[in-house]
Amino acid sequence: MRVPLFLTWPIWLRPLSFSFVSAITIGPVVLLKDRSLLANPSFVNHERIHFRQQLELLFLPFFLWYVLEFLLRLAYCHNLYSAYRHICFEREAYAHQDDPHYLHNRKPFSFLSYLFADTGSKTT
Ligand SMILES: [Zn+2]
Repeated sequence: MRVPLFLTWPIWLRPLSFSFVSAITIGPVVLLKDRSLLANPSFVNHERIHFRQQLELLFLPFFLWYVLEFLLRLAYCHNLYSAYRHICFEREAYAHQDDPHYLHNRKPFSFLSYLFADTGSKTT
């Protein structure tokens, strides 16, 4: 079985999505705004990295950590996009989404190395 499973964006998520969010990975399911994203290997790899992060944190703690870190970074930088991009999970995923072998070579809990690597920027 290939994980994650890609599904279209449900209508109940529309109010919660910011314009720069194109997908949400929830365990083995990825909710997509646009199915054409599946043709982009970097996008698929990005979501697979999030799935691995979630597995390591046993899912629920991942989401709690994600939201808490987002809110803390938002309080610091006052910019939704910057706060999102500086979350340690996103930093790891964006840094390695173009490497198709990353998940084969990745050490467990690698997202921790991105936690304090940069505290974010007030400018973006
Ligand atoms: Zn992401």
